[in-house]
Amino acid sequence: MLRVAFFLAGLLGALNLYLTEAIIVQTVSVLCILISLGVATVWPEPLPPPPPSDLWSEAPEIKEREMKQCSNCGKVVDQKWSMCPYCSKKV
Ligand SMILES: [Zn+2]
Repeated sequence: MLRVAFFLAGLLGALNLYLTEAIIVQTVSVLCILISLGVATVWPEPLPPPPPSDLWSEAPEIKEREMKQCSNCGKVVDQKWSMCPYCSKKV
């Protein structure tokens, strides 16, 4: 978008140069054209839009660890634990 704006500024400068008769306006117009077209060619393109969200993979359904319930207090503890950290009984 900015590149287009600078390019249009250069075109306006060219139009100004074509219409005017005064030397000072011609000089300023040439400077304006050079700067505008220079910026329009050097200015970097904006970042591309992000990919559509259906390309992103869904989060895995599997839980990171296997869990089981304590037979004494009913709280969820790790599958590998042999003792409940809440009630200190054997799971
Ligand atoms: Zn417990």
